[in-house]
Amino acid sequence: MERVNEASTLAAQRGFEAHVFSQPSIHKRCYREIRDRFCLSAQMAVRAIGKAVEAFQRDKSIRPVFRLHGAITYDARILCFKGPDRVSLWALPGGRMIIPMVYGEYQKQRLDRIRGQVDLVYRKGKFYLYATIDVAEPKAAEPVDFLGVDLGIVNIATDSDGERHCGSQVRSMRIRRRRFRRKLQKIGTWSAKRKLRVLSGVERRFATWVNHNVSKQIVAKAKRSDRGIAIEELTGIRRRVQAGRRQRAVLHSWAFLQLRKFLEYKALLMGVLLIRVDPRNSSRTCSRCGHAEKGNRKTQEEFSCRACGYRSHADTNAAMNLRERGRAAGKPAERSVVDGRLGHGFRRLSAAAASPHL
Ligand SMILES: [Zn+2]
Repeated sequence: MERVNEASTLAAQRGFEAHVFSQPSIHKRCYREIRDRFCLSAQMAVRAIGKAVEAFQRDKSIRPVFRLHGAITYDARILCFKGPDRVSLWALPGGRMIIPMVYGEYQKQRLDRIRGQVDLVYRKGKFYLYATIDVAEPKAAEPVDFLGVDLGIVNIATDSDGERHCGSQVRSMRIRRRRFRRKLQKIGTWSAKRKLRVLSGVERRFATWVNHNVSKQIVAKAKRSDRGIAIEELTGIRRRVQAGRRQRAVLHSWAFLQLRKFLEYKALLMGVLLIRVDPRNSSRTCSRCGHAEKGNRKTQEEFSCRACGYRSHADTNAAMNLRERGRAAGKPAERSVVDGRLGHGFRRLSAAAASPHL
């Protein structure tokens, strides 16, 4: 890994100096040097140059210097999985080596679907292989109805059946950690910085775990009841929610976006139609009579229609509006407009996205 990254840095330097950024032109200038200097095999050298080329594709104005333990890419010529518990890959010294490995139940069932390249990643003293797999994408069933799902702050997700997935657990932890983090940032010492990094990892993993569970439950419920899922179009969320600064910070954090992503890909894998609908006024419109007024929403939690007297939890009411909009938009003729994927085919997922919680 270290030699490959050094080789990539060298390749980038040679390309940068000569103002050439393509694989063949950099190859011509340093392939031989890389092979001799870093003792890499032909294919490893090609891969190392490839990493520099990729960096240039992002930005040609800077000369990249690669971290010694940055991820490196293997392809089928230099890595292959040998049975259930070992992998053969090219490494120094000596070339091909058989390395024992472990993986989870989920990965085990998908070993035969690994496609293309595999990334070798070094994290906290352990090596990981990140593989891409092909996943069959079942044809989405014709929904008989829609499950409206309102994504929010207090309740991470509320569906139109009235079920609430409470975010309090996640939220309180996040606020607590944010406070702690600020303190650490002020201290600013090396060890405080290290604590900071560890902390963000813990927090992220916890939120990911919650999101996997919540999204899995919602998609399973829709599947069981032959329903599609209607969530709000993303652009509307910031407009709609009036939240305090702290809440907004929570809302806009990536955990919120992650839940959407999880819902989307799990729906796809389960053959559940997911559509995004216009969220405008969904929180202040009465789901029974359609009357829209700001005063309908008395508090964060309470919805009470000033026209017909209908009362409900505010998030549930919003979710029911999304459901209605889903039903209106989900008519087969208009489906292409609302981004419902019905096609049968294959979709690529990274191993990180297709996690064991599925
Ligand atoms: Zn009403």
